[in-house]
Amino acid sequence: MRIENEPKLDFKDVLIRPKRSTLSSRSEVDINHTFRFLHTGRTWTGFPLIAANMDVTGTIPMARALAGFGAMVALHKYYPPEDLIAFFREGEGARNTFYTIGTNEADWEKFALVKRQVAVPFICLDVANGYTERFVEMVAQAREQNPDSVIMAGNVVTGDMTEALLLAGADIVKVGIGPGSVCTTRKMTGVGYPQLSAVIECADAAHGLKGQVCADGGCTVPGDIAKAYGGGADFVMLGGMLAGHDECEGEIRHEERGGERVPVSMVFYGMSSDTAMNKYSGGVAKYRASEGKTVEVPYRGPVDATMQEITGGVRSMMTYIGATKLKEVPKRTTFVRVGAQLNTVFG
Ligand code: 5GP
Repeated sequence: MRIENEPKLDFKDVLIRPKRSTLSSRSEVDINHTFRFLHTGRTWTGFPLIAANMDVTGTIPMARALAGFGAMVALHKYYPPEDLIAFFREGEGARNTFYTIGTNEADWEKFALVKRQVAVPFICLDVANGYTERFVEMVAQAREQNPDSVIMAGNVVTGDMTEALLLAGADIVKVGIGPGSVCTTRKMTGVGYPQLSAVIECADAAHGLKGQVCADGGCTVPGDIAKAYGGGADFVMLGGMLAGHDECEGEIRHEERGGERVPVSMVFYGMSSDTAMNKYSGGVAKYRASEGKTVEVPYRGPVDATMQEITGGVRSMMTYIGATKLKEVPKRTTFVRVGAQLNTVFG
């Protein structure tokens, strides 16, 4: 047994120190970033935020709405091939959308079918535990069969495995084990890594090889997204922060208020929760425990308002630290460790 004594940080453990700058307004900053990908030579420009490939948030309506902000969506795995083909044919949709593949054979067969009909420029290879040899082989195989597609693969939380996945063929490594809003992995297994440190360490490893990372999970407010970029995240993936909107899949619960039926909440759940496993895999398999929870989140209307808040928060952070471009943010970020960061007197 070993103990690592160096402190590891979560978003809540730090704040970003302001810096002197000549910027005077949020409108002077550019939150778009151009990436050149490691294996494809392809480039992409946009606001590097990705809606998670959870069935509630990784939807086609979400992809359309986020495209308006230059942001991306990783579609969930449960769309029938016809819907995917029709959507990718739109062209504009495909520009900002990841096609998600898991570990099972059926996912690969569906992907082969879709790929025969339409170009799939972005692929997300998603497994709960990116540390297996089998996953590394899966990434290598996907790279061999899709030389022109950008491949994002994960999840991992350490530099060594980030390098392994990049060398196997990934362009972007997805970082995060256990930080998610509806994730119970840490509770069920005791396994995990504080998310901000995971992002800092994996980004450092990835950038050394000219690869990229996507910080996946644990962002609860726009400031957390700002901190992820500050820590070196190239992309940030969001589940919970994008739940509860019109563009999500799932039923809206209504309540009678003053004689009117008003929308109040929506269900949101982890992809390995009982809810998801009952929906898609006919129940929880005997050999595994559910590692996700089911919650009800307040209904929040169209996602546009939330995206305005997020982009506004990131822009404002950039003016505080004097970064005109998103690319400059990590260089201009100094994190200060804090004991407390929010005044909670009004809840
Ligand atoms: P959030 O933004 O809600 O904090 O985190 C979203 C991320 O949580 C997803 O992108 C995914 O990586 C992770 N996640 C989603 N469902 C589950 C689950 O059931 N179990 C675990 N361990 N992680 C999940």
